[in-house]
Amino acid sequence: MRKPMAVANWKMNKNGEETRQFLRDYMAQASGITGAEAVICPPFTLLATVQQEIGSPAALARGAQNCFWEDKGAYTGEISAPMLKELGCSYVIIGHSERRLIMGENDEQINRKLKAVLQCGLVPILCVGETLQQRENKAALTVVKNQLDKNLQGLHVQPGQLVIAYEPVWAIGTGVNASSDDAQEMIACIRSRLRELFNDELASATRILYGGSVREDNAADLMAKPDIDGALIGGASLEADSFVRIARIIAHG
Ligand code: PEP
Repeated sequence: MRKPMAVANWKMNKNGEETRQFLRDYMAQASGITGAEAVICPPFTLLATVQQEIGSPAALARGAQNCFWEDKGAYTGEISAPMLKELGCSYVIIGHSERRLIMGENDEQINRKLKAVLQCGLVPILCVGETLQQRENKAALTVVKNQLDKNLQGLHVQPGQLVIAYEPVWAIGTGVNASSDDAQEMIACIRSRLRELFNDELASATRILYGGSVREDNAADLMAKPDIDGALIGGASLEADSFVRIARIIAHG
């Protein structure tokens, strides 16, 4: 059974007081959401605040938005997977399109990061997805398959240790989401590629999320699809009320 997930990606937003307020509001409203795993991925600087305010990861699991592939050393400005583990993280987002496109992260670097995260016992949330031009050129399936092949190359991963987020670049932060049929089609292809690259057990156990302008008014339609196991939520995760409402939809989807 794949437990659905609601993952909040705060990107580079919020300060300490805003985070404490979010957590108070979240905890006041979120009781009873047992059918989904809620995960919050704040900026690195706020992970300790979240750890102090919410002791138990069961109440709200933590993730980071990125990490480096080495454990320690002369890598100025970088943060390693063991450092994130110490701060109570269970998950690390790897290969978000903003990192691929703005910071120029390539597939080989993403592959090294995935290996480091798994080695440390954390669960990577690997983001894949095509640009608008690639979709218009009917290359979306090929692009995503290539990302999977390169990013997952040589990985030793057990069932349940990997999460994938299909995030079409043109849907992120634009207010335009993929249709539930298109998202289901791509996510089913991702699952079948996992079957080919690994095995049936891993493919069946891997949670595959949709991300890209998920809101309260489109979440139910997306979650009704058999292969969509939850959502990676950017803008709509910044307010506790809206994140909780989406998490409830995902829990009951
Ligand atoms: C994201 O940041 O991964 C994302 C999907 O953002 P948004 O929900 O704002 O489109």
